[in-house]
Amino acid sequence: MKIVVLFGAPGSGKGTVAGRLVAEDSTLRHVSSGDLLRDAVKCRTAAGVEAEGYMKRGELVPDVIIARMIGEQIEKVGGTRTLLLDGFPRTVAQAGLLNEMIAQHGAELTSAVLLEVPDGILVDRITGRRVCPACGAGYHVTNIPPRKEGFCDGCGTGLIVRKDDNLATVKNRLAVYQAQTVPLIDFYSARGVLRRVVGTGPLDGIVERVRQAI
Ligand code: ADP
Ligand code: ZN
Repeated sequence: MKIVVLFGAPGSGKGTVAGRLVAEDSTLRHVSSGDLLRDAVKCRTAAGVEAEGYMKRGELVPDVIIARMIGEQIEKVGGTRTLLLDGFPRTVAQAGLLNEMIAQHGAELTSAVLLEVPDGILVDRITGRRVCPACGAGYHVTNIPPRKEGFCDGCGTGLIVRKDDNLATVKNRLAVYQAQTVPLIDFYSARGVLRRVVGTGPLDGIVERVRQAI
């Protein structure tokens, strides 16, 4: 199994890009730490109940919670597929845990793709974000508008704003990114797997650049 890590600030477009890549390539599997956590919260699992408060405040949930979820996904996917990890690891400690899981499963981390987006546009991207609660599709009120305002193109469900996409929480998430996730740049650079991708401009171009990088 190959593993590709996709990282970048909140609002950098990891989930959107990953969604596009897996739609076009059946050998790819998208695993989003944020989606796994939101599902767990929705289902009121023990992990979800514990994670909820951290997520509301825009803080990272404890490593053990998220690492266990990712480990389960790695086990499930197996085989010759490429796993696109979106949102994990987010700290150097998590990157160490991932390396252990990779070693256990005889997998290989082929690239760590950093989606680079200037700070100034992240807040607008996040506060304008809308998501489909039924199928998970992501939109933006002006950048990626649905055909019918407020409703999912794919399944017609009414779109919602994520609970943590409000200004106060967003500012905290950006600060957490700077403090805890930016050190991953050096971590993966030192291992020769860092790929920097410009995360601005037309979405098609961003998707194409990430495809080349993985
Ligand atoms: P974004 O990248 O836009 O912040 P995510 O959906 O990836 O959105 O994450 C939402 C929240 O889920 C984070 O603010 C954090 O609370 C939690 N979370 C996601 N991934 C991790 C992780 N690897 N470690 C700890 N917490 C995480
Ligand atoms: Zn939908």
